[in-house]
Formats: sequence, structure tokens, C-alpha cells
Amino acid sequence: MSKPTKYVYEFAEGGRDMAALLGGKGAGLAEMTRIGLPVPPGFTVTTDACKVYLETGGEPPELGVEAVQALARLEQTMGRTLGAPDDPLLVSVRSGARFSMPGMMETILDIGLNDQSVTGLAKASGQERFAWDSYRRLIQMFGHTVMGVDGDLFEQAIAEHKARRAVADDHLLDTAELALLTEEFKAIIRKETGEDFPQDPADQLFRAILAVFDSWNTERARVYRHREHIPADLGTAVNVQAMVFGNLGSTVTSESSGTGVAFTRDPATGERGMYGDYLPDAQGEDVVAGVRDALPISELKALDPRAYAELCDHLRTLESHYRDLCDVEFTVERGKLWILQTRVGKRTAEAAFRIAHDLSQERTITPDEALTRVDGTELTRLMFPRFETRSTDVPLAHGVPASPGAAVGVAVFDSAEAVRRAAAGEHTVLVRRETTPDDLPGMIAAEAVLTSRGGKTSHAAVVARGMGKVCVCGAESLAVDPVARRLTTESGVVVSEGDTVSVDGTAGTVHLGALPLTASDVGHALETGVSTGPLTEAVQGALAHADSVRRLEVRANADTPEDAARARSLGAQGIGLCRTEHMFLGERRALVEAMILARDNTTRERALEALLPLQRADFTGILKAMDGLPVTIRLLDPPLHEFLPDRTELAVRLASAAHPDVHDRELLDAVERMHEQNPMLGLRGVRLGLAVPGLMAMQVRAVAEAVVQRLRDGGRPCAEIMVPLVGTVEELRLARAEAERVLAEVAAETGEALACPIGTMIELPRAALTAGSIARFADFFSFGTNDLTQTTWGLSRDDAEASFFPLYLEKEVFGVSPFETIDQEGVGRLVQLALDEGRAVNSRLETGVCGEHGGDPESIHFFHRAGLDYVSCSPFRIPAARLEAGRAALSDTIAADDSR
Ligand code: ADP
Ligand code: MG
Ligand code: MG
Repeated sequence: MSKPTKYVYEFAEGGRDMAALLGGKGAGLAEMTRIGLPVPPGFTVTTDACKVYLETGGEPPELGVEAVQALARLEQTMGRTLGAPDDPLLVSVRSGARFSMPGMMETILDIGLNDQSVTGLAKASGQERFAWDSYRRLIQMFGHTVMGVDGDLFEQAIAEHKARRAVADDHLLDTAELALLTEEFKAIIRKETGEDFPQDPADQLFRAILAVFDSWNTERARVYRHREHIPADLGTAVNVQAMVFGNLGSTVTSESSGTGVAFTRDPATGERGMYGDYLPDAQGEDVVAGVRDALPISELKALDPRAYAELCDHLRTLESHYRDLCDVEFTVERGKLWILQTRVGKRTAEAAFRIAHDLSQERTITPDEALTRVDGTELTRLMFPRFETRSTDVPLAHGVPASPGAAVGVAVFDSAEAVRRAAAGEHTVLVRRETTPDDLPGMIAAEAVLTSRGGKTSHAAVVARGMGKVCVCGAESLAVDPVARRLTTESGVVVSEGDTVSVDGTAGTVHLGALPLTASDVGHALETGVSTGPLTEAVQGALAHADSVRRLEVRANADTPEDAARARSLGAQGIGLCRTEHMFLGERRALVEAMILARDNTTRERALEALLPLQRADFTGILKAMDGLPVTIRLLDPPLHEFLPDRTELAVRLASAAHPDVHDRELLDAVERMHEQNPMLGLRGVRLGLAVPGLMAMQVRAVAEAVVQRLRDGGRPCAEIMVPLVGTVEELRLARAEAERVLAEVAAETGEALACPIGTMIELPRAALTAGSIARFADFFSFGTNDLTQTTWGLSRDDAEASFFPLYLEKEVFGVSPFETIDQEGVGRLVQLALDEGRAVNSRLETGVCGEHGGDPESIHFFHRAGLDYVSCSPFRIPAARLEAGRAALSDTIAADDSR
């Protein structure tokens, strides 16, 4: 990077579009300062400074001078000096990266207190207890974060004092007790580090700034970044801000103090109206950590109507300024309201759709913008099933419905156990009294999070919502015992580790055992077109807009009339992949065996003849369900031995039979004859069609006759024949000639004109590389990106996923599996090349993708840019694909808003 001109910005110098440099928090503080909201003054040390520190191990030399100057200006503004013995200025030192990482990095409050200034603060504020409480908080946070002392040591000391005084709450420790505690904390630090807690305020400040830099690389921050795909080299900014105090007691109503968080709308449901928690006589993390039970924000109205009205006002200002849901941290100091943080708030999938829809209805944002505010992953989440509610199900407990959805799993009582069991494939529910950032790995591993303390803004709630994980928090009637690894309900029911529970994040309940699931409202509404409430209305609105702007068509992968009908009701514009292999299973297996075992043409023909009407009926049903829309039918693809019994099983049966069965003998011979070391690369696809006489002709005839039947029934069948696994144009030429011969035959027999496009899958690198020649014999290309990924990478998916994939993901050989999101650099390049060279030869070539990537949001954006005509995916993913195709079309015109 070129050398920055400066490393320190005062809040008044920054703005919302500077998040990369000032971090999200710094940019938000600057923006609020700029628009006149009451923000305690301060300055931001840039992410550039952090990057230098992370790269070189030392801060840039200019930083010291710039920070000292900024501090001097702050002292001047405040009329007080940092840590002065009489009336000290105190500051907080707050981390804040480009992307919000709630609770992942460190913040230190009350910097500037020492043995002298604590008395000064007591005098100036008139509150001795408050001063000593602040001092012990500083030593505790500083000791842990900057000096690396185990935080539990401090907590233990607090617990001992509480026990001695027989009080349940930190809050009830008096001044003398706190002063004692402070001395003990200092002794702990001395003992653990061999160093004294620094008394020099400037020293405290600089060490705190560097500690925030260091916190970028803590284990939990790394885990979080990995999971959220946040680049590891962005670094964090550091905000230094004058302290304001919510912990100045709550005695006098008109001069009450406290702290809270608030949202401009409900982040769980998206409902309009201010939402949040307030905790009287508290500071900083107290609300989020759930140490005491917070009050709903509405109660602030009674406690301090002026502060409440002002807060409402500022929230309105912020929402119309950012044109989105915002959340804030605020503190009331003796009746004076301060805003300490704002950002565009995280929200559940449900809230995302409702808020986008409402804001667009309110004309705050355009329909295009509304579409950019939701995504396919969220939509898919909304289509997941929920619990069937039965009046007979009595929950174990009620809590706060913090993140919606339904999850079933076994209860586990710590993060490590959740990780262990998830690795073994088990579904778990992580049960904690409250979560801390150290629980993150377990939260990622678990299906749901359940806590007995904390509200909708607790750590558990915020993190779970961000991950789209089911969460119920603050289920206070549960006694959670992490040591004995069990929880006990009010009525005495004990749930031990390993017992199955169901967590309903929508209702906020926990149940014993696995509750039955039922389809979601959204899924149902999309299938029937009937809207049942504000959420389904919002989803339908977003989809309608996506449909109106997208260029990519969306088809379904469907093999049965039922799937086809379902896909169509979900908005499919045809079938991009109709597999025929399952049509060879079940009762038809005997016929298939006969075909495979046939020693002469007559026997084989007889078997094929018997299969013909069955296949024809299959195709007729599917063409009927998709009447008027294209149905791409793939000729038989998998190796034939997949239709025969297992080799070992057969051999055992033969060996143990008293009178070996002749048929079994023949079968075993056939199985052995056809055994392949690597069936993925063996006799399959078009190779099979060319090798087994009559097979392809039978399938094409079944398609042709189905088309004729549909025509005669007054339908509009649009069948397309797709040849799989072509590697050279020669294969396609032969297959096409055969198919055309049969089509002509059926046309002649029936007198119907049959226009049936014939195309191929592109799923081998050689096919992609020679697409120019292949396109001369193809009416369409359909990219089979599953096989194309396997063959390009030279790996078998099932084997790889079972063996080295986890290691590869951990070592970040790739960030996400290339089977989930298309590998644009490799496989994507082949797609683009085949597309361009195919179209150059055949301008009417139709192109689509039918691999699983066709339903993956990020891949869909790539296919849009590459210029494909359609994507095809499983029916369930069609709404998400429509939405993403719309979003992809918009991303050509709308750039991402940097302040979001
Ligand atoms: P995080 O990024 O984890 O939310 P913050 O930097 O926002 O950390 O700070 C942690 C807590 O301390 C928040 O509740 C915040 O409001 C509070 N806090 C930070 N700075 C100040 C300050 N200058 N005065 C009062 N409270 C503060
Ligand atoms: Mg914060
Ligand atoms: Mg394939």
C-alpha cells in the first residue's frame, strides 16, 4: 500500500463511506457526529495503522505523535485532562473493524483511572461507589485484555466477595468492598505478570490501543472471520472516546442513568417500531452479557420520558439517514442521552424480507434496492419446515424467541462437546447459561443455541441471528448446570447431556424429544400463490420484482410428474434435467436385468420392448405437468452394473445355497464382467448408449411416442433429448444420427411432425475444449457442473468428501467446496470457453447449467455474467434461484453501498 498521509482521524473528520479506513464503528461514530447526534467526542486510529502493526510487529512511528495531538485536542474539548488527579477525563478504547464482529475483539473502558484519579472521580461525581466500581472494571479489563491475565481469576475474586457479603449481584457490593477488590485485582496482576498495573494514564492508553490491534488475531476472532468470509488482512481500527457513565446510580428519576441497545425495528420479525433493552445503573457490556435482566426499552419511557423521546427521535433520524434498519448503543448519564454506536443492524431472514418490503412500500428505498437487501440463502432458510404445533406438547420452558426456525438435536453443555459430536455427524443443541465469544465454535457446530439468561440482544441472540441459527435465550426457569452437564426445569424434569430436545426459535420454546415438523408458511405460500401474512407478502413481492428484472431463466431438475408439478408451481420455466435412471429401478429391475443379461438380440429386444411403454408413460406424465415448457430428458447415464445386485451379496448367496440358482450364477457372471475399478470414468453416458444395442433407440422412441400422445391429447409438449458425457464430437454425431433416425421413424408411423431438439451435456474438459466442433451437432449445451468439477479437478466427489475435504477446508486450500460454489477460475473458465466457442459456431445454441451449482447463489451470479440462458436446480431451490438471478441482473447496475 502507498504510505497513508495520516493514521488518526477525529470523529468530526470522518463519515459513513470511510468504513474501510475507520472501521464500521468509527465510520458510524463519525457519521453521527456529522449529522449532529449526541456522540461523546473522540478520535479513530485507522486500520492502516493496524495493518502496519500486524505486518511489522510495531506501530508506525508517526502514530504516537498523531495520537498525542488528538488526545490534547480531546482534552481541550472536554476541559479535562486524561487521568488528572482532581477531575479526570476517562476514555474508552474500542475495537472496530470494517465488518462488524460483535464481541469478537476487545474494548477497554475507563482508561485514565489510577490510585489518585479514582478519588478525583469520586469527588467530581459525588459518587464514591461509582468511582471504585469503574476503577475495578478498568483493572479487570486491562489485566485480562492487555496484560493477558486469565479473566476467571478476577471473576473468582468477585464471587468470593459476593459470597462473603451474601449478595447475589455485583451491583450490591459497597464502596469498601470494591476498594478491597481493586487491591486484590492489582495483586493478581502482580502475581500473574510480575508487573504492576500501570498508573500512568498515557501508558494505559497506548498499551490499550496496541492490545486492540493484537485482538484482531485471537482464536475466536479468526474463527468468526473464517465463518463469515471476512478477509484476514483487513485489520481493525481503534476508537478512543470520552467516557460517559450509565452507572451513576438510578436513584433520582429525573437524573437517572443507565445503558441500553435499541433497534429502529424488530430485528427478529422485522415488525415496525422501536425495539430494545435498557438496564438502569449499568455500563457497557452489562446489557449484552445478560449479567442482570434488562428492561424492555418501553420502560425507559416511564423512567425518563425526555431521554426516551430523544432516543426515538434519533432512531428515526438514523433510519431515514441510512435508509435501513439501524441499531444503536446508548447511555443515559444523569438524564443526558448519548449515542455510542450505530450500524445497519443484523437481522433474521424473516426480518430482512419484511424490512426491505416495508421500506420500499414507505418509499424509503426503490424496489431494486429492496431486492439487493435480501438473498437466496435467507429465502431458502424461510422455506425450511417448522414444528407442528399440537396443544398436547407442553414445553420444558419458555424463553425469548431470539432467532427463528426449528431444530432438533441432543443437548450438550459446552462448546467442545458440540464440536466433537457434530464432527461425528450428530445434531446438537448447545445449552449454556449465557454464551461468550469463547462458545463460538460450539455455536457454529450446533443446530440451535439455548440459554437461560439474556435477552434478544444478548451475545447468544446476536451471534445466532447472524449465523441464521435457531436460538432461544433467557429461558430463566431452566437451571443449567454445565458441570453436571444437565438442566433441570421448574417442574423438576432433568435433561442430561445426550437427551434429544426440540428448540423452536420462532415460538421461543424448548421441548423434550423430537417434535414433528411441518412445511413452512413461506414454502406453502410460494407453492399455492396464496399469501398468509406480512412475511409471505414480502417474499412474494421480492420474487415478483426479481422475475421482472432477471435475464436468466430458471428451470428445475425433476424426474417425476409430481416433482415437475411442484417445480412449476414454485416458478420453474421448464425442466433442465430429467434423469431417466430411476425409471429403471423398482419393479422394472427384472426387465433391466433381462436386458443386460440377454445373450442374443431377440431376448434383448423383448426386454427393451417391455420397458418401452413404461418409459413412455413416465415421459407423458412429465410432459403433461410441464405442458408448454421445455423438458430436457437425459438419456441413461450411470454404468449398468448399478442396476444389478451387489457382487459380494450375490457371491455369498451362491456359496451358501444348497442348490445354486442358475439365474444368480448368470447375474454374478454379468456383475463380474461389468465390474469397473472406477465406474465414474467407465462405461456410462453416451458410451453406454453406443455400446448397448437398442437402448438409446428405445429411450428416444419412448420420448417421441410420448410427444405424439401429448399432441393428440391437445397438449403442447416440448421435449428435448440430451446426450450425457460426450467427450468428442464423433460420439454426439453417432448418437444424434441414431436419435434422428428413430424420431423420423415415429413421425412416419404416426404422421405427426416431431420437432425435438437434440443437445449434449458438457461435463468433460475435452468436451468444453472442443465445444466449437461439438456445437455443430448440438441444439443446446447443458453444463453438468458436478461431473465437470470432478473431471476438471480429477477427483471423485464422494471419496474426496469422505476423506480429505475437511482437511482442505481447514487448511483453506479452498474457502468453500467447489461442489457447492462453482470454481470460477478453473471450472468456470471451461464453461465460459465452451459457451463462447459453441455460440461462435452455432448462434442459436441454447445454453444452461444443470449441476447443483444451478441453485447456489454465488454460482448463479457467475452464470449470469457468463451469459448462460438458464440455470436448473432442484425444485426446493427454485425460488432462491429466481431471487438470485434477479439480484445478479441488478448487480450490473447497482453498486454495493459501502456503509452497509
Ligand atoms: P463491541 O464492539 O464489542 O460492541 P464496544 O466498543 O461497542 O464493543 O464497547 C463495549 C461496550 O462499552 C458497549 O456497550 C459500549 O456502548 C460501551 N462503551 C464504549 N465506549 C464507551 C464510552 N466512551 N462511554 C460509555 N460506554 C462506552
Ligand atoms: Mg458495541
Ligand atoms: Mg454427469
